[in-house]
Amino acid sequence: MNEVKRADFPLLENNKEMIYLDSAATSIKPKQVIDKINEYYTTYGVNVHRGVYDMSSRATDEYEDVRNVVAKFINCKPKEVVYTKGTTNGLNMLANMLLPKINKDDEIVVSVLDHHSAVMPWQRVAKATGAKLIFVELDENNKITVENFKKVLNNKTKVVNITYVSNVLGVVNPVKELTKLAHEFNSIVICDGAQAVPHMKVDVKDLDVDFLAFSSHKMLGPTGSGILYGKYNLLNSLDPVEFGGDMNDGVEMYEATYKDAPEKFEAGTPSIAGLIGLKPAIQYLENIGMDNVHKHSLELATYVAEHIRNNEMLELYTKYPESGIITFNIKGIHPHDTATYLSTHNICVRAGHHCAQLITHYLGCMGTVRASFYIYNTLDDAKKLVEAINAACDYFKEWII
Ligand code: PMP
Repeated sequence: MNEVKRADFPLLENNKEMIYLDSAATSIKPKQVIDKINEYYTTYGVNVHRGVYDMSSRATDEYEDVRNVVAKFINCKPKEVVYTKGTTNGLNMLANMLLPKINKDDEIVVSVLDHHSAVMPWQRVAKATGAKLIFVELDENNKITVENFKKVLNNKTKVVNITYVSNVLGVVNPVKELTKLAHEFNSIVICDGAQAVPHMKVDVKDLDVDFLAFSSHKMLGPTGSGILYGKYNLLNSLDPVEFGGDMNDGVEMYEATYKDAPEKFEAGTPSIAGLIGLKPAIQYLENIGMDNVHKHSLELATYVAEHIRNNEMLELYTKYPESGIITFNIKGIHPHDTATYLSTHNICVRAGHHCAQLITHYLGCMGTVRASFYIYNTLDDAKKLVEAINAACDYFKEWII
């Protein structure tokens, strides 16, 4: 990978001792993104799609151009790109939009790998419609296989949600194969790309998923913005679930007409800076190359796995990493205690259930410690994590009964 300039990341430069291993929660932003947001607020920071004055046109042009950049990045048409507040917002909106299409005899397939934002909206839809929520079994590597997927699909399957990369374990599911199978049963396929799009090449045409949701803040971009991709005809056949400014064509006392997708799903003043800042984030990733982004994080997670795999004090849930995520516990020690200890070594990791309680319960624990790598991490960061984990094991030895 081309050397990522640490100097591009002011937060890292301002915290030189810090080893940031929590990029699955949110990524650090390069100055190209911060500068773009600053430029918006300081030179043309007005509303979009409303004014006819020059500054408003500039804001609108910059804002709309992001749609083209995202479309090229995931290989779709710009009109298939819906701006959202993030993955959670996209997945919730989608479940609400699809709700009128769900009947009591339908089945909705999810898995225990799913993030709360992917499974909870469907729990609500199932309750509201009488449809059944079906959980696909995981294999011994905690992944969804074609064989297990086949067992849950049938003519009643209306929607499947597939988590591309688990935010807890980092396992990568075979989305393309699972999608092909689900389409044989005419099911709608939703892909949660929150941990995939920031880290690897995601081509929606190649995967053939019907919908894909992801967040800007996990891919070097600002918080408060994200994308919901949808195949145009299907997307445009759905009704909006949020109403207000900019999404309507005309409003009478008892009726209103809507614009076509994507605008009809974008009611109200959006996160303009949040979306404008996504463009330099994507450009930054594209300059490195998505294959290199994936390879780099994977190499660092693999280094850590190789060096702690034989430590008997550890429960290593990610034995053979498939992405930049590695998850473990010191046996008998609460993950928050381990994470607090690691922070005394200036290492920032996440501990807990990672908003995915189903998988932590499935693993038989209340939570885990998760280290997640990204482009600005170095082999030295990985080495320091291994040293700190070993030191934590020494420290906690006497705590364990
Ligand atoms: N799905 C997955 C797999 C995630 O990792 C996350 C964020 N942890 C989300 C959905 C929700 O993303 P956001 O909080 O950005 O809406």
